[in-house]
Amino acid sequence: MKYDLIIIGMGISGISAAIYAKHSGLNILLIEKNTPGGLLNKINTINNYPGYSKISGPDLSLELFKSINDLNIPYKIAEVESISIKNDNKIISANIGEFESKYVIVATGRNNKKLGLSNEEKLLGRGISTCALCDGNLYKDKDIALVGGGNSAIEEAIYLSNIANKIYLIHRRSSFTAEKSLVEELLNKKNIEIFYDSNITEIIEDNNQVKEVVINNDKHLVVDALFKYIGFEPNNSIFKNLDISLENGYIVVDNHYETNVKGIYAVGDCIKKNIYQLITAANDGVVASISIIKKMEKNK
Ligand code: NAP
Repeated sequence: MKYDLIIIGMGISGISAAIYAKHSGLNILLIEKNTPGGLLNKINTINNYPGYSKISGPDLSLELFKSINDLNIPYKIAEVESISIKNDNKIISANIGEFESKYVIVATGRNNKKLGLSNEEKLLGRGISTCALCDGNLYKDKDIALVGGGNSAIEEAIYLSNIANKIYLIHRRSSFTAEKSLVEELLNKKNIEIFYDSNITEIIEDNNQVKEVVINNDKHLVVDALFKYIGFEPNNSIFKNLDISLENGYIVVDNHYETNVKGIYAVGDCIKKNIYQLITAANDGVVASISIIKKMEKNK
């Protein structure tokens, strides 16, 4: 079967796109490799999404999933491996087979960068966190480490300094790349100790929990948690066959969220943009979907 539109990724941007496309009668398919909801499933509390004064990420994810089911939008849990072009159509190759579509929206999001340490993945949620807002209160009056030197790292170190007893801020350069005003605020904090020119070379665990971080193979810091703010890696591997424009790994799109390859759109956290929020991801999906709907109407 040939689809009008295939949406890759069932995070908030992909689902928003799907809702609009379905309401307009497009023949669509959603493909997701993990759990519908994407990043939402990792967020503890959301208090900046209109319509919900407060909701957990998994609950919002469930709400979105309900819309998919209520609208009878077909979806498959499968891993997309590549996209190729055949005549004017797009062939989506997944681990369960091939699908053909006139248009594609890529909504594959981005992942937190990794330090590259052997037990880093295993200790996620066991002392390692990438969300101070979600997990900070677990470490009230404890000693914690935080790694990174950009805006996120400095903002979150300041936030955590009001909760934790002591923060060891570990940065691999001799100065921060974060905004000057943030750095000034950070330097005024009495309970933050900064280690410049330092890399975490080992995470020592005890009973499957973070116990110490070792910096530069030498200094051992006893901590209850390690917060990682070392940036993101957009998920763009499915483009290896195509000449899609990327900037620092992020997909470049125009005002309609179309990439430089006609008929392939991208939305949400995998694209190059200024603001990465749930509400802006939803917006991206809606704009891309409406752009496709209008094009299809024009070409009837
Ligand atoms: P980022 O700006 O990419 O900073 C990542 C930091 O982690 C850098 O200090 C980087 O060091 C370090 N790092 C990267 N890989 C590392 C590794 N393997 N080991 C140790 N350190 C590593 O990421 P971000 O802070 O998450 O910010 C992402 C974007 O959101 C940025 O554009 C940022 O300006 C924006 N943002 C803005 C605000 C705000 O305006 N208030 C707040 C948060 C985020 P190097 O410099 O050496 O690579």
